Amino acid sequence: MMTIREAKILDKSGADPPPSLPRAAYIHLPFCRQRCFYCDFPIVAVGPRQDLGASRLVQDYEAALIQEIQTATGSAPLTSVFFGGGTPSLFPLDALERLLVRLEKLFGFGADLEISLEIDPGTFDLPQLRRYQDLGINRLSLGVQAFQDYHLTALGRHHRRRDIDEAINLLRQVGFENWSLDLISGLPGQTLEDWRQSLTEALAAGPSHLSGYDLAVEPGTVFGKRFQPEAAPLPPQELTAQMYSLAHETLTQGGFDHYEISNYARPGRQCRHNLVYWRNQAYYGFGLGAASYLDGARVSRPRTRAEYYAWVQSLPQAPEPPLSRREQLLETLMLGLRLREGVALKPLLKDLSPKEERAFWRCLEPYLQEGYGEIFDMEEHGPELKPGDGGQRLRLTAPEGFLRSNRILADLFAVL
Ligand code: SF4
Repeated sequence: MMTIREAKILDKSGADPPPSLPRAAYIHLPFCRQRCFYCDFPIVAVGPRQDLGASRLVQDYEAALIQEIQTATGSAPLTSVFFGGGTPSLFPLDALERLLVRLEKLFGFGADLEISLEIDPGTFDLPQLRRYQDLGINRLSLGVQAFQDYHLTALGRHHRRRDIDEAINLLRQVGFENWSLDLISGLPGQTLEDWRQSLTEALAAGPSHLSGYDLAVEPGTVFGKRFQPEAAPLPPQELTAQMYSLAHETLTQGGFDHYEISNYARPGRQCRHNLVYWRNQAYYGFGLGAASYLDGARVSRPRTRAEYYAWVQSLPQAPEPPLSRREQLLETLMLGLRLREGVALKPLLKDLSPKEERAFWRCLEPYLQEGYGEIFDMEEHGPELKPGDGGQRLRLTAPEGFLRSNRILADLFAVL
């Protein structure tokens, strides 16, 4: 099963640019009230203050971000912009507007642009949501994580159940249609009943998209010091597998498509930005700790402010070497098999020697026979893919294949 850590990381506007030109941009806004006990993201904890507008911290960060954005090359209109964090709903609205203006000036915006922004309960009000709408932000992602105060407290989250109810109420009042809700399973002491309750409450809230991640205990976090992975009070693996299956059952019965290992969407409401990652397509990344994938090379920015500011000052730098064909193939497999649409077989196999291809099929065969994976034709899966992705595809089944994805990938990687 994939984890929350692995998660963080289609143009209808006219002729397609060359496939290597990025159409998606991720902007990292790192400010949070406090660091949650499980979080190892690059963040800046600012405490309880609400208005960061006049803060030097934010001004310096915005200046560095804009300087970095200005050095970007390429000119395809963007089809998705994703403000992630951190807690982007703490970021001042005027600064957000300035970033959007820069992005539009530099790249242009496609006609059907998706602009996503992550929000946390207790960090926004009605006027703020209306301003997001005015700025063209048309997708919000609400970080709920759990509906029980005892779990929220144990996670080190700053919000409580009443803030969640208020947040959902505000989203309803402004009529926001495209919004996602995040939950975490596998919490310390979490029971199947707790998880069932969170899923039921999440469905009742009426989001168009839902992410359910399995908790990852990362070294260097409070949880990393407090808990041994997979040891009590963390639920055993059999229980987290039951939680995964329960989420699949509850949400698919509730009308959601299980389109990615950890993600569910109502028809047409998949996160288009994240599809870019999982399809292994190019994207810009700007800001502290952000990763980009340009010209076949992945670049991760420094994770501390001082190092990031120094890195921005040193731009432009010599380009990173592109990934090798083998690395690209492994990444395409690792990312694409997260998706229900899977991966196209022809481009995947074209660089393999006959011996490697035989090893690939030998390795896959038992999983296909057990029903954990399947070969299918693109036509069966709908129109969103591009013609070059057509023909036969390989995918893991949901939920049984998804549950075993780590093992299947490890076996494939060992033979390729
Ligand atoms: S709000 Fe999100 S980004 Fe901020 S500390 Fe908590 S988990 Fe990390």
